[in-house]
Formats: sequence, C-alpha cells, structure tokens
Amino acid sequence: MSLLEIRDLSVTYRGAHGDVVAVDGVDFTIERGEFVGLAGESGCGKTTMAMAIPQLLPSSAGISRGSVLLDGLDLATLDEDGLRDVRWKRVSVIFQGALNALNPVKTVGWQIAEPIRVHEPDVSNKVADERAADLLESVGIPARRAGDYPYQFSGGMRQRVMIAMALACEPELVIADEPITALDVMTQAQILSLLRELCDNLGLSMLLISHDLSVLADTCDRVAVMYAGRVVESGAARDVLASEHVSVGAAHPYTRRLLRAYPDITRERTFIDGIPGQPPDLVHPPTGCRFHERCDVAIERCAVDQPLLQECGPGHLAACHLLDQQGGAR
Ligand code: SF4
Repeated sequence: MSLLEIRDLSVTYRGAHGDVVAVDGVDFTIERGEFVGLAGESGCGKTTMAMAIPQLLPSSAGISRGSVLLDGLDLATLDEDGLRDVRWKRVSVIFQGALNALNPVKTVGWQIAEPIRVHEPDVSNKVADERAADLLESVGIPARRAGDYPYQFSGGMRQRVMIAMALACEPELVIADEPITALDVMTQAQILSLLRELCDNLGLSMLLISHDLSVLADTCDRVAVMYAGRVVESGAARDVLASEHVSVGAAHPYTRRLLRAYPDITRERTFIDGIPGQPPDLVHPPTGCRFHERCDVAIERCAVDQPLLQECGPGHLAACHLLDQQGGAR
C-alpha cells in the first residue's frame, strides 16, 4: 500500500463570481521514502492539492469529491480531533516565506519545540528543548543558536529552522511548498540538498511543490505536472524532465513547452520560448483538453474530448490525444 493515495480528488472554492474547481478529479500517490515533485504554473492547483492532504485549505474551499488516504486512513473524513493526531505527527508542512511563517518574538528553539509540547504532552519541556537543539544541528545550525530570534538569521538559515520545525514530531510525510522562493541560488542548492539528504537518511516521504522544473529535475525521484486543476503528466523525473533529450522525455505538449520556457546552460544561447496565452478561467473551464487554446499541436478532437491519463512508458503517464495516434506507449 502506498503511504499516500489521493483518489479522484476535487477541491472547490466558493467565489462571488461562481465556484472554482481548483483541483479536478486528481489521482496521485506517494510511496514510502519517495521524493515527489509537483510542478505547474501559478494557479494550476498544486498548492491547493497539497494543502488538501493535511486539510489546511482556506475556509472558502472544501473537498467536493474523492479521498486522501494516508496508510488507508481517509484524512478527508476526519474531524479536528482526528486531524490533530495527523498534523505534525504524520504529515507536516514547510511553508514558503520563512520570515512570515516564524514568530518574530519567540526564539527559534522555542518555536521548534512548540509542536512537540503541543502534540506530545507526555514529553517534558527539558526533553522538548533538547530535541529542538538536536533538530537544529540536523539542519546544519549549531544548537547554541536555539536561543536566538528569527531576525538574527539569514533567509537560508530561517528556512532551515522551518525544516527543523517540520521534522519536530517525526512525520512520515513532509510537504514543502515552494521552500526556496526568495533565496539566492547558492542557498537554494543547499536547502534542496538538505531536503534530499533528510529524505534519504530518515526514510521520509517528501512532496516538493515548485514552479521551477530544474529544481525538481535535480532533486526528485518522480514528478507530476498539473495544468488547470488536473495532472497532465507524471513519471520518473529523469524521464519527464530530461532537458538534454526533451523529445524522448516529456510526453505532454504542456510539459515540453514548460521545459522550453527555461534557459538551459548546456545548450546554445537562445531567447526563452514562453507559452502564449494564459491558463483558462476555471469558473468557466474550456471543454475538451484544458490546454487546447494554447497548444501548438492541437487537433480538432482536442476542443471537445477530454484526454485521460494513459501509459506512455514504464511508470510514465500523460493525458494527450496525440498519444493515441502514436499508439499509447512509446
Ligand atoms: Fe495539445 Fe490536444 Fe494533447 Fe491537449 S490533447 S495537449 S490540446 S495535442
């Protein structure tokens, strides 16, 4: 059994101009010890899907269909008491923007120990503080800095503190929502390698959300690409995001266009090739393939017929009608 199995998940936001189905019928799994990336443009539904796992959706949103199974337990059916046993202890989140997420008037040691004090009431304050100090060391910050305040740390170190907090109650799954936004490239690389190391050494499962495909290609075992609320492609990162042989890597035209929209220092210098148009308005989503208005290889069928995910290689799925013409698996 997979550690996490999301089945036919839909999440709807209630808005003044109508309901928006931000995640629409998504199936998704994460295995134990697996590092999975979730990619797509802003507004494609990746953060909504990730926040639906620990049920941290805003009050205007709710799960309208489907299940979120953690080791067989459907988190979508739990009340607040049930969720208290899951959040931090089994699933934790590293939020983007550490400066906003940390409390400026509490020491970092106090903040790392807080989830332990709240979720493990049998643990004494002394032991919680010792564990917080060990956690700081494990993310590369000397334990003696536990008494310092967030403003005394650089952006990268604050993000390390956030990672230490996420690990405080030894969860099985950590969700990292754009954890390297606003950090310089050297610090980004250090944080990503720390996440990968923790995943490998602690046997954690990790879900990394990023709009930056190069980040996911270098770090993840597997990736899923979302467009307009649906997963359009998933597979091993080396297959889906292999920029040096794009034509045999990504199978979905949207993923290929995303890859072409990033500079590649191993190739000749060219202008970045962006994707024309905007993602669709999900109050009135387009019929057929949701990408058809922006797709440069669309055929007539694409405007009326929704493509379903199908296998196009071992463990590699994509939702595109062109795969039918190529005979499915490549
Ligand atoms: Fe493009 Fe059609 Fe494939 Fe959608 S189904 S990605 S519109 S070719």
